[in-house]
Amino acid sequence: MEGPSLVILKEELKTFVGKKVLKVSGNTTQPKEELQGLVLKAVHIWGKVLFLEFSGGKGKKSVWTRTHFMMFGSYRINDPKLDRDPRLALEFRSGIFYTYACAFRFLERAEYQEHDRQVDVLGPRWDEEHVLNLIAKKKDAYLCDLLLDQTLFAGSGNIVKNEVLFNLRCHPLTTLSQIRRADWPLVIHEVRVYCENFYKWKKKFELRRHWQVYKKHKCPLCEQKLKREKLGKLERATFYCLTHQLVPKPSKKLVVHEVLPPAVKGKVKKKEKRLDH
Ligand SMILES: [Zn+2]
Repeated sequence: MEGPSLVILKEELKTFVGKKVLKVSGNTTQPKEELQGLVLKAVHIWGKVLFLEFSGGKGKKSVWTRTHFMMFGSYRINDPKLDRDPRLALEFRSGIFYTYACAFRFLERAEYQEHDRQVDVLGPRWDEEHVLNLIAKKKDAYLCDLLLDQTLFAGSGNIVKNEVLFNLRCHPLTTLSQIRRADWPLVIHEVRVYCENFYKWKKKFELRRHWQVYKKHKCPLCEQKLKREKLGKLERATFYCLTHQLVPKPSKKLVVHEVLPPAVKGKVKKKEKRLDH
């Protein structure tokens, strides 16, 4: 799950804030029983990570948990996956929150507070100047790695990476130093813009129909077969057009393109199924 999905999850979990955990289950090896009887005090997110803060009772400090959804993690509320064991399930009077295939552990509040809020792409303290200072130290890294770097873009994932690279019309193996210095802020800003759109589309169950290259076969501009490769140091799946995504020529101004309108084929498609991205 990428950052925008965590924003939606936080909204969905609001219903359980202030409520007591009645029952805990799941296959985590963490001492989950400690949560039984505690009250969910607050829900926090940073990038792709969910933090739950529980009130420890009178005179006791809060209990914190961290859930990282990794590459294949997902969650459900009141609608468990039938063939899967949850990593953790928290039952409240008003419903049950299930998580799957994620990394779950307890942590101290101090560790949560160490996260750099200014790189949290959809967070209230996102700061593009700050990211610009950080990214300058990584100018020889490939864009396909930079766009997944959680120390620069917390919340950006493989969908964001592929779609932003297409909007920039850049080859995934473009290094930051091959882009004019004056255009670096455009790259940073585009990540935020795409994440805002991701959030908006996902809320409307329209995320997939706006994908231009991610998991697509043909370039939406020239209809040529897209290249699909594991690229960069991170070796994550990368989808790109060999004609439209080139390493920019030195001194060429970078142009950020708007997301193309979704292709309309035949009748209007039904609502998308829920995506776990
Ligand atoms: Zn193309």
